[in-house]
Amino acid sequence: MKSVLTRVVCSTFLALLLIYTLPATSMATEPMTTITTGGINGVYYSAGGAVAKMFNKKRQEFGGWMANQASHGSLENIDTVLAGGVDFGISQANFLYFASNGIENFDGQQKTNLRAVLGLYVEDLTIIAAMDAEINIAKDLKGKRVNIGVVGSSDEETSAVVLERLGIDPETDLELFNYPTYEASEKLQADAIDAYFYTVGHPNLSVMEATEGDRKVHIVPFDQTFIDGLAASRPYLSADTIDTQYYDKLENKGAIPTVGIKSILFTRAEMDEETVYRVVKQVMDNFELFRMQHPAFAQLIRMEMPQDVIVPLHSGAARYFREAGIIQ
Ligand code: GLU
Repeated sequence: MKSVLTRVVCSTFLALLLIYTLPATSMATEPMTTITTGGINGVYYSAGGAVAKMFNKKRQEFGGWMANQASHGSLENIDTVLAGGVDFGISQANFLYFASNGIENFDGQQKTNLRAVLGLYVEDLTIIAAMDAEINIAKDLKGKRVNIGVVGSSDEETSAVVLERLGIDPETDLELFNYPTYEASEKLQADAIDAYFYTVGHPNLSVMEATEGDRKVHIVPFDQTFIDGLAASRPYLSADTIDTQYYDKLENKGAIPTVGIKSILFTRAEMDEETVYRVVKQVMDNFELFRMQHPAFAQLIRMEMPQDVIVPLHSGAARYFREAGIIQ
């Protein structure tokens, strides 16, 4: 008869063997950590995929995996992460600021439990337009068919603020469309709209798709007075330029002046500390590889990853950054 010890050793060995030889199909039953991102042709989706890729390097050790999922962007992400439907999300700095201060879109509904995980890349306020619509500068949007994104989405909210600052009344001065932004590039090529708004990192697949077709497409520049005024209005906005080098078929060449805003990976305060620690550690331990996952990540600087993240760092993220000597 086998001793208890032998049986324990044998069953432990069998259990380990099972864990280390799990077929890919077992993904469906493994615990899953989720990140809500953006439209599939934006950069949030790639960013979520890159974070998941780093986490999944240790999938067997962690006994669970991470998956990214598409969404309508920042505002939806804040809602679903806070509601507990997903674990992590990506958001523009402004929406985290509004939520944590209970202003603008979150007027009277202050969210005190948003926590930052990693600061990511800078996104740019972008207007993509057909050349034949003759929108040479943002103010020329007047009278045009303009897509501003799904009602209640971050794109719609951002467009409303920008249009107001441009002195354009969305009710009377434009023909407005609310197609989801991931469809806007095909609508532009189909001549269903003249231009669309997108606050997004560059390069992205939306602009690439918009430039693939018979209709010639360009990115509309903002005038410097507008840029300086908007950038000065909030601490998290800055003057920036869009790098067009990856867009072969775009009509503009060179840098296009606009306003930039940081994107941030976030979670809720109640999120398990160990999981957040693992996410941060996996990205930071594989930092060079992470930066290679998308050209927009090339701008990331290791020591700046916990900086300018609007809301307090989650305890799991702070633990990693302290251990690594990046914060005190
Ligand atoms: N900035 C957009 C938003 O907050 C998303 C951009 C992207 O998906 O890359 O909705």
